[in-house]
Amino acid sequence: MREIGVKKAYGKRQLSVWPFEAWRLALIHALPPAHPLRDAAYGRRGTLTIANPSGRAARGPERGFAPDLLVVGAGIFGLSVAWAALKRGLSVAVLEAETPGAGASGGIVGALSPHVPEQWNPKKQFQLDALLSAGTHWAEVAAISGVDPGYARTGRLMPLSDAEARERAADRARGAAVHWGGAAEWRLRDDADPGWLAGAACGAVHETLSARIFPRAAVRALAAAVEARGGRIRSGCAVRAVAGGRVETDMGPVIAGRIVIAAGVPGFGLMAPALGQVAGQGVKGQAALLRADVPPDAPMLYHDGLYVVPHGNGLVAVGSTSENRWDEARATDGLLDDVLVRARALCPALEGAEVVERWAGLRPKARRRDPMLGEIPGLAGVYSANGAFKIGFGIAHHAGALVARMVTGEAVDLPESFTVAHHLSRGLRA
Ligand SMILES: Cc1cc2nc3c(=O)[nH]c(=O)nc-3n(C[C@H](O)[C@H](O)[C@H](O)COP(=O)(O)OP(=O)(O)OC[C@H]3O[C@@H](n4cnc5c(N)ncnc54)[C@H](O)[C@@H]3O)c2cc1C
Repeated sequence: MREIGVKKAYGKRQLSVWPFEAWRLALIHALPPAHPLRDAAYGRRGTLTIANPSGRAARGPERGFAPDLLVVGAGIFGLSVAWAALKRGLSVAVLEAETPGAGASGGIVGALSPHVPEQWNPKKQFQLDALLSAGTHWAEVAAISGVDPGYARTGRLMPLSDAEARERAADRARGAAVHWGGAAEWRLRDDADPGWLAGAACGAVHETLSARIFPRAAVRALAAAVEARGGRIRSGCAVRAVAGGRVETDMGPVIAGRIVIAAGVPGFGLMAPALGQVAGQGVKGQAALLRADVPPDAPMLYHDGLYVVPHGNGLVAVGSTSENRWDEARATDGLLDDVLVRARALCPALEGAEVVERWAGLRPKARRRDPMLGEIPGLAGVYSANGAFKIGFGIAHHAGALVARMVTGEAVDLPESFTVAHHLSRGLRA
């Protein structure tokens, strides 16, 4: 564990010491995290010592610890970056304003579904790679944490209402054969159970790539795995501002080698001073959880933006709304009632099923919809892991691994639409 300087602890007498320390730290942290000179600078015991002539104990959120990587936000993106960085040998701390999963990641839907297999591009390939590696990732997290994230690759059924829809589906089946490389299928079926899937007048698509996960259980599992691997998660610690090599919190500054902003919707605000703009927004979603006696391997259903996701434990999630304007981010209302009506029409098995929870959250959407990953212009050593929007759980482990590689200075192959520059307004791009 490394000791950190917490400016608050210096007091008046140390004001003359602080600028020297700030320069020393800036120089140390300009080195890549694994650089031998950094270790030398940290000292024999791996301790980054900072003179504290007052002799008073340093105060702060992570007293006595200056991590290689500081992650802001313990949602699925922040925890995934933390996990990948720990696996690369970095020391990691996560600062979370509330508790892990307090944002969009504490939800209930958890459909991990692919883009349609047509008009193939690097973004679709990225998502395919993520979905195909998700099973192994979550099995490892479950084994290390001892917490079941509720992952299962159960596939997805989509009704085909007319001949045109069926023809398009047949094209996509051919696309899946080419682009999914035999790892999954986009099958046409005529035998969908009408008690499970209604509206299949011209059959259904059974796509075998989709999986489900229980979001808040996945967050619990990943947070426990991060801690089991030596990562520190500090709840109740809101970051107010971020600069190269340090963040300001209510409890004082914290210094770190590299910083990743994964704070969901508020994360766009944390980056705004450096970017000169707010590069994203929240899109509210409402969903519900119902109790229904459904086989554990039942496939999820999808039609026209609506998901029905059986979680294999007697609970079925339905969602979601997509709202660009709202009054109360965490409140549910009549829009969710409409979702429930549509869900029961799509899935007759839900008729009469008890609603056990109504839930709402804000999805972080970067300006141009795709995730926003990479170093933030104007903030050296500070990275964005934001913009998960509607697909965060399907790609988080893959995105987290890429961001962890960027943090350690490795070149990565990122779809252009995932870069930070892609999301900045014209004239402000790097
Ligand atoms: C109704 C609904 C249904 C959805 N369904 C699906 C689905 O089926 N499949 C799917 O893949 N995705 C789905 N999503 C999207 C998914 O939930 C998001 O993509 C994902 O959770 C975003 O994760 P995140 O870590 O980027 O953000 P968040 O989960 O919002 O995490 C950000 C974290 O940062 C913390 N934080 C904020 N500000 C600060 C600060 N200043 N200092 C410290 N910490 C801070 C927050 O408290 C929070 O814990 C759905 C979302 C909603 C709302």
